[in-house]
Amino acid sequence: MTSLKTYNTFGVEAQAPEMLTIESEDQLLELLRTRAKRPYLILGGGSNVLFRQSPSGAVLLNRIKGRVVVEETTTEVTIGVGAGENWHELVLWTLEHNWGGLENLSLIPGTVGAAPIQNIGAYGVELKDTFVGLEAIELRSGEEQVFSAEDCAFGYRDSYFKRAGRGKYFITRVYLTLQKQPLVNISYGAIKEVLQAANIDQPTIQDVSKAVVKIRSSKLPDPAFIGNAGSFFKNPELEAEQFTRLQAEYPQIPHFFAPASRVKVPAGWLIEQCGWKGQRRGNAGCYDKQALVLVNLGGATGAEIWALAQEIMETVKMKFGVVLEVEVNVI
Ligand SMILES: Cc1cc2nc3c(=O)[nH]c(=O)nc-3n(C[C@H](O)[C@H](O)[C@H](O)COP(=O)(O)OP(=O)(O)OC[C@H]3O[C@@H](n4cnc5c(N)ncnc54)[C@H](O)[C@@H]3O)c2cc1C
Repeated sequence: MTSLKTYNTFGVEAQAPEMLTIESEDQLLELLRTRAKRPYLILGGGSNVLFRQSPSGAVLLNRIKGRVVVEETTTEVTIGVGAGENWHELVLWTLEHNWGGLENLSLIPGTVGAAPIQNIGAYGVELKDTFVGLEAIELRSGEEQVFSAEDCAFGYRDSYFKRAGRGKYFITRVYLTLQKQPLVNISYGAIKEVLQAANIDQPTIQDVSKAVVKIRSSKLPDPAFIGNAGSFFKNPELEAEQFTRLQAEYPQIPHFFAPASRVKVPAGWLIEQCGWKGQRRGNAGCYDKQALVLVNLGGATGAEIWALAQEIMETVKMKFGVVLEVEVNVI
């Protein structure tokens, strides 16, 4: 048995019957060829999982490295990245080369291979905006497969790998196309204000990245000190009719227009209105600076955090009639 406590950013205890570190595609293929078929759990940085219980099968720790340029034109560069590379280190590497596209996604914890799973997003940018394809190995057959952006069926914190493809593939390599004459995107959140405060009126992608790092560091708990997995819930997208009813009752409700005439409402606001911000249940808590983040206040179990999540979901449903969807992968 191997303790998974230091392999998940919630810092909760769980035991893996076995843990195998995967450093190359060949090693994984060999493993799948030679071992009896059984369930595996793939872990990257463990920053988007909650262990309610210990996994039943072996944990495959993804550490496949490597970053290469696979194609280059005068305006664009396409890179292929090993799925076990650290996401933020990749972002910093692209910034060193002045390749634009990932700067708004600075400081998101975890690995490159997990990024397509929920189509990571922040500050008005999502992985899908630069994504061109990925390579994966099907765990049951050991077959190598290539997925295009279309195959991945990306949505808001969603992809094929969270639906029909859940748990079936080990993503080994991700391909992204970045811009050599980048345009910055500072329209979202507090980026503009942070740049203005620093007297930067012609921001570079490096400036944008620094601003994002500054905002994130002030808003989100650092898992090195307070266990968490970022946003625990997705922001619900409501039908226009349901939103209009809610707005009549709560005129101050923040909202954004989403595709297909739907309206997105911040889950953090709904949770805060139910009085959860800064509250605790035993060792599990609702973060005092951002109600969307659940935290391990020290020694919490996954079951305790899950019980708090359930209670929050029930009160939001009762007060607003809105069903929150969990963003974190609950094991
Ligand atoms: C403080 C904090 C802030 C965050 N902010 C954001 C944010 O702004 N935006 C955002 O989108 N997310 C955010 N997250 C969530 C998280 O960082 C991302 O979801 C990240 O992509 C998870 O990467 P990971 O390597 O840690 O994945 P893990 O937690 O290890 O795995 C997540 C899921 O993906 C599966 N998986 C992992 N690697 C692979 C692979 N190679 N092949 C197949 N399946 C795989 C796992 O089995 C699991 O189901 C945040 C988390 C934290 C702790």
